[in-house]
Parts: sequence; structure tokens; C-alpha cells
Amino acid sequence: MDYEAVVGLEIHVELNCPTKMFCDCPNRPGDEPNKNTCPICLWLPGAIPRFGYEALDKATLACLALNCEIQEKSAFDQKVYYYPDLPKGFQLSQAHYPLARNGWLNIIGEDGQSKRLRIHHIHMEEDVAKLVHEMEGKTPISLVDFNRAGAPLIEIVTEPDMRSPHDAMEFVRLLRTQIRYAGSSECSLEAGTMRVDANISIRPRGTDQMNTKVEVKNMNSIRHVGDAIAYEIERQKESLAAGEPIVLHTRLWDPVKKVTIAMRGKFAGPCVPDPSVPPILISREWLADKIARLPEMPTVKAERFNRQFDLSEEESFQLCGEKETADYFEQVMAFPVPARMANHWLTTQLLPALKEREETLPASRVTPSRFAELLMLIDRNEVNANSAKTVLMRLFETDLPVLTVIEQGGFSQVSDASELEGIIAGVLEKHAAAVADYRGGNAKTLGFLIGQAMQASGGKANPKMVRELLIKTLTP
Ligand SMILES: [Zn+2]
Repeated sequence: MDYEAVVGLEIHVELNCPTKMFCDCPNRPGDEPNKNTCPICLWLPGAIPRFGYEALDKATLACLALNCEIQEKSAFDQKVYYYPDLPKGFQLSQAHYPLARNGWLNIIGEDGQSKRLRIHHIHMEEDVAKLVHEMEGKTPISLVDFNRAGAPLIEIVTEPDMRSPHDAMEFVRLLRTQIRYAGSSECSLEAGTMRVDANISIRPRGTDQMNTKVEVKNMNSIRHVGDAIAYEIERQKESLAAGEPIVLHTRLWDPVKKVTIAMRGKFAGPCVPDPSVPPILISREWLADKIARLPEMPTVKAERFNRQFDLSEEESFQLCGEKETADYFEQVMAFPVPARMANHWLTTQLLPALKEREETLPASRVTPSRFAELLMLIDRNEVNANSAKTVLMRLFETDLPVLTVIEQGGFSQVSDASELEGIIAGVLEKHAAAVADYRGGNAKTLGFLIGQAMQASGGKANPKMVRELLIKTLTP
């Protein structure tokens, strides 16, 4: 039988607020264990949670970036269950009145067409503590670190609109871009500031029934999200072919073996309204202020780049995928540098070099003004492309001015005609056979002679002038 997949995602995003959600402890889960705690986030009896408005700000900006309708009233419930990482026995979460509903993102589907994927709702909740499993001698023990307890989260719950691993990966990528632009989170699956759970079921293609789903967790990269979903679709098809029914449960993705492993039955405890945190009531003025504070989003920015700079639609779209890259590019464009050239050098030289060095654009020694200075020198033929690549690498290591680096390294391009004529004369004398070949009508020999002249100049000759002078000299 021909099946299609039905996939929905539940995505937890850690908000980058300075403090936790219901107390003033620093929101730094990575610090020394149990350093950032107080009676509220240790969940000691009698401690009353105090909701922090930083979390509401960041959560609202993220919801707006995902095209959601912010609700006038939202409220916290106690999601009741017991686990060692939640010793108070309930988690504060918005089960009945979420902060936002009815969002969407438009992805590019596998057929190249735009496809709208809907978001059912987004709610706020506190994170739980972290369990650390260790061995004490031969005895396995579990330690509890409360640094993460009470950290501010939002959970994004999508509609089951995805039909393939591609849809899910594109959705997560775009969601990450939007939330990064909003400034609410880094959304890193690798660093754990974003966690994606996928609900997957299959049905005969063309039907619209909703069959029993399986939840898959523990994917720590976007690639793993795609791999886990693809694996799970095939596993369910094989189960049905073998006559085994699909049962509701949770599975973990094993990135090494590339399989999903059954973990536990899916459990949902009761949710009761929390009496200690007052409901959140949002006024029109407050919301208007948040909307005004939302920065220019990637699609709008890409359209503007396309209009404002000499860049194609696709180049603009690529450039605006990361806010840091787009901002950097715009700072470079404050200098008289051709846009196409800046885009080319940024994407083919600077970004790959940064990635290799595990550095980020904002922290790099290659500031927009230094990068622009180098590009202007290339544009004015004062340094050739090859030398410029070496100069760029040196800029990562030093704070010296670009011109000093070029002068000290002897990278200035030779554009002096008489100097170049001298070099060319030497090359022609040394390669008489090639000269004869060229004059005999083999135009390809020109490339060889240009290469020899460039080499003779130590790579510093202006290639355009070398070419012109060679043709001039060789043409009787
Ligand atoms: Zn605290």
C-alpha cells in the first residue's frame, strides 16, 4: 500500500533572559551545579513564584516572529507529575490559556512551491532540573542540578501539516532564523537551547484519517530531525506490513546507530490552574509596542537588499538567512564597495574561514570596515585576488591596518606597465616555443604565458594588465 506520513512538531526553545522565569536567579544553566538557586527555584515549600516580565517580552517577540495571534489573556497551570528532576510534583505551564495561537511559517516544499505550515499554539513554561547520571564506585547514582530549574521556555506546537522529513527540517530551519531575528534565543539544537520532538504517524495516501502516532525525541541537529523522521516512517510501514499495530509511545533517536529506540509509554498528567501566579492580561498598547520593537524580518530584509543593492533575489535571500551575516554585509555596504563583489568575498572566503576557525562574525578581527578596505583595494587593482586571500587570512591574526599588512607582506599588486613589460620580456625569451605556438594560431597558449608571467611576478602582477600587454607584444 502507498502510505503518506503525518508529522507534527513540539519544539521547546530556551529564552535568553538574564534571569529565571519566577525568581531573580541568573538564567545560566551551564554554571557550576546548583550555584544559581534560591528557595523559589529549589521549589521549597511555601516559596511563592514571581513571574518575570523579561520572559513575557522575549516570548511575545518570538510568537510575533512566528506570525501568531497574541492572546489577551493567558494563564499558568500546574502540569502534575512526579519525577526526580521535578521534586515539587508539578511544572508551571500554560495548558489551558496559552500565550499565542494560530501561527504559521511558509517553507519551500520538495516540489519547489511555497507551502504554509501552521502553528497550533505557543505556550510559556518553566524548565525542570537536570539529572546527571554518574558512577560512585560500582554503584550508579543520579545527581540533581537545579541551575536549569525554572529557566524560561516557550513550547511551539505545530499542526500535523508536515508530510516528509524535508518539511520538518525546513520548518525547524526557518523557525530558528525567525526566532534568532527576534532576539529571543539562539535556538541551537547542538547546545540544547532548542529541543525538537516529532509526532509521526502514517496513513494510506489520499485519506485524511489521523492514526496512532509515535513520539520521537533526542535529536540534536536538524539533520538528525530529518533522519529520525525518515527512519520512523519506514519502521511504521514495516510494522503494518507485518501485521503489528502501532501503539502510542515515545522513542529516542540514537544518532550513532541511526535508529529509534522504544523508551516509555507516553504519559500526560492532569493540568490544574495555578493559584499563585496571576493571569497575564495584555493591553493593545503593550502589544503595539512589542510589534514596533520587532526588527526587520528576513523576508522583508531580503526584498530590501534586492531593491537597494545590486544583488539577485536568490543572493539577497541567502544573505538574509542569518541576521549576523546580513547586518555585517550592510555595514560593509556603507563603504564604496561593489555589492556583488562584497557578497562573493563574504560568502566564498570570509564565512568559510570563520567556520573553520570556529569564530563568529561579530567577534572577528575582520571588522566590516577592515573587510571593506581590503575589498576597495581589490576593486582598485592595488592588490590582486590571490594575494587578497592571503591578506584576508592575516587579518584574522592581527589588528594592524590593512595597508600595513599588504606593505609588510609585499602584496601590493604590480600595475606599473614598464615593470610588467620587463617581466613579460623575460617570459617570452624563456618560452620561445610557446610564443611560436601562439603566433602559429594556438590561442590556448596565451593562458600558459599569463600563468608564467604571474609566477615570475611572485603572484603580484595585475592579471588583467599582463593579459593585455602579452596580446599587444605577441601581435605583430
Ligand atoms: Zn531562583
